[in-house]
Amino acid sequence: MKFDTESIKLLGAMSESFGPSGFENETASIVRKAAEPFADSVLNDKLGSVIFTRNGSSRSPKVLLAGHIDEVGFVITGIDEKTGFLTFNPLGGWFDQVLLGQRVRIRGRLGDVVGVIASKPPHLLQPEEREKVVKLSQMYIDVGAAGKETVEKELGIRVGDPVSPLAQFMTALNDSVVIGKAFDDRIGTFLGIEVLKRLKKGDVSHPNSVYMAATVQEEVGLRGAQTVAHVVDPDVSIVLETDIAGDVPGIKENEAPARMGGGPSIITYDSSMIPNQPLKRMVIETAEQEGIPYQLSTVARGGTDAGKFHLNRSGCPSIAICVPARHIHSHSAIVNLNDIDLAASLVVALLRKLDETAVKSFVYE
Ligand SMILES: [Zn+2]
Repeated sequence: MKFDTESIKLLGAMSESFGPSGFENETASIVRKAAEPFADSVLNDKLGSVIFTRNGSSRSPKVLLAGHIDEVGFVITGIDEKTGFLTFNPLGGWFDQVLLGQRVRIRGRLGDVVGVIASKPPHLLQPEEREKVVKLSQMYIDVGAAGKETVEKELGIRVGDPVSPLAQFMTALNDSVVIGKAFDDRIGTFLGIEVLKRLKKGDVSHPNSVYMAATVQEEVGLRGAQTVAHVVDPDVSIVLETDIAGDVPGIKENEAPARMGGGPSIITYDSSMIPNQPLKRMVIETAEQEGIPYQLSTVARGGTDAGKFHLNRSGCPSIAICVPARHIHSHSAIVNLNDIDLAASLVVALLRKLDETAVKSFVYE
């Protein structure tokens, strides 16, 4: 196994923690506790993101690493008077078909409540209805109650309460892969913590100051990235993310070129950013020099926090280095631990190189 039991336990706790966009405080505190020992200081913005700093041999340039800690979830929109069933809206991008039959956790004012996402049972569906996709707007969350009063008074659930998928984290395939929810982007955040840990434990010298941000509200429009960019004002940013692994039936290679187990992927363009080209070349060269396998990827629809970082002030050379993940934005994504290990090695190798001269060379004059 590439990671010790303690690291896997941390990844599991991060994955299982409750943290839909806008409601990330539980995840933030787990991350803070885990990363603090490897940081020189910890900063906060006023939106909920946490930033860990690590001083290198030179104050500048400032290198921002970032993983977002929010997950796709839901918010309660209504409670049916008679049945007590709950209607809900998505927080972030969901494919409705992965929802039916899944368990969720609602965070009410009296504590957490478990519910099940359901719709009309198959027995009652007309033959033509069975052929159709059930839309999220036709689904409800059943908490087992019978009536609005129980839900409101006994369970303490109100309109506006957040909902997160409920899914157990586990290892599989001889402990080489992990399965769980919220891998987008608790995997990237875990990778960031791993980088800080390697810098500290290996006493790695780096000619820059490192800022590792655990950002909030990425899934609802890269909102945490905006405030973090303001706090850090980075000279270069490396976003640590999950990429869509295309080695899944029905996906053409050019639709999602990265595959699980093939090493970290470098996003060459997505709908939020075209990365800085000299920086991209440096990432590729570094991987080749270090003998780290890498994959060049494209994402037609979707972006990362780098979409905000690269537009900070007069611009900030940025790139996203990713861990390919299957089935993200569902209760059960799958990631290969070796890819996380290789991604951490690549980021550490880059941090050793990113000095003033290198960062100056990224800017076209
Ligand atoms: Zn993400």
